[in-house]
Amino acid sequence: SIVVTGATGSLGRLVIGELLTKVPAAQVVAVVRDKEKAADLAARGVELRIADYDEPATLAEAFRAGDRVLLISGSEVGRRVPQHTAVIEAAKAAGVTQLAYTGVLGGPAADFLLAAEHKVTEQLILDSELPYTFLRNGWYTENYTEQLAPVLAHGAVVASAGAGRVASASRADYAAAAATVLTGEGHLGQAYELSGDVAWSFAEYAAELSAQSGRTIVHNDVPAAAHLEILTGAGVPAPFAEILVDVDAAVGRGLLATTSGDLSRLAGRPTTPLADSVRAALAAV
Ligand code: NDP
Repeated sequence: SIVVTGATGSLGRLVIGELLTKVPAAQVVAVVRDKEKAADLAARGVELRIADYDEPATLAEAFRAGDRVLLISGSEVGRRVPQHTAVIEAAKAAGVTQLAYTGVLGGPAADFLLAAEHKVTEQLILDSELPYTFLRNGWYTENYTEQLAPVLAHGAVVASAGAGRVASASRADYAAAAATVLTGEGHLGQAYELSGDVAWSFAEYAAELSAQSGRTIVHNDVPAAAHLEILTGAGVPAPFAEILVDVDAAVGRGLLATTSGDLSRLAGRPTTPLADSVRAALAAV
C-alpha cells in the first residue's frame, strides 16, 4: 500500500487526492489521529489507520511490510524529533520499502531555526538504513497568501528579509511531486530540492498585491528587532515570532530562493505562479 501520515492536514489531503488520480483507492492508506476528521477520505475508499506520533504504541499498526510511506512532518515545532523518531522506528519494524519525508529546502545546509528538526530527522532516517526519499520542501506560497487580512488592513507587507527572494510553490505543487515519488520508480536514495520555478521578493509580492487588489500595498522592510516587536505586538507568541523573524533572515541570506527545477520536473508541470496564488487568495477574502 501507499501510506500517507498527516493525511487530514492541508498537504496530506492534497497528496491523497493526487494519489487517487494515479492508483486505485484500495492501495491508498491514510494514517490519521482523528477518525472523524478523515470520514471524507474513508468515503473515497481510502483505508484509515489510526495513530498518533506522540504515542509510539499506536504506530505499531500504522505500517505493513512492503508499504511505501510518506511521513509528513509534524506541526508541533519542538516536538518533532521524538515524534518522527517514533514513526521511523515503526516503519523500520514493519519493513516498509520506501520512507519519503517532507524536510526542508537545502537539507543539511539549511542553518535556520525551523530547519533543525528536519536535519535531525533526515539523519535518523539515514541511520535507520530504510530505503528513503527526501522531499526537501521550500516555502508554501500559502504561508503568505493565507495571511492577507493584516496586509490589506495596513496596506503593507512587513518583512525583515531585505531584497531576499522566496522560490515558493503551492501546497498542491508539493503534493503532486510527493505522489510521483510514491508511485514511480527510481526515487530511492534521492534528495530532491523542491521549490517554485520563480523566486520573488517581498517588494514584488507587494506590487502584485497592489496590481490585483487595486489598492496601494507597500513593502515595509524593517530591522529584525522591529519585526519581532511588530509581530509580538500583533499577538504572535514570542517563541513563534522569533522563528518567523529567523525565517526572514534566512530569506535575506538567499536560503529559500534555490530553484533547482526538481519540483516542476516531479510534478510534471510548471509550479503555480505567485500571481495565480494571489488571485485565488484575494477572491477568498
Ligand atoms: P497541517 O498543520 O495542515 O497538517 C499537519 C498534519 O500533521 C495534520 O494532519 C495533523 O493531524 C498531523 N499531526 C500533527 N501532529 C500529529 C501527531 N501527534 N500525530 C499524528 N499526526 C499529527 O500542515 P500542512 O499540511 O500545511 O503541512 C505539513 C507539514 O509541513 C507541517 O506539519 C509542517 O511540518 C510542515 N510545514 C511546512 C511549511 C512550508 O512552507 N514548507 C509551512 C508549514 C508547515 P490533525 O489533522 O489531526 O491535526
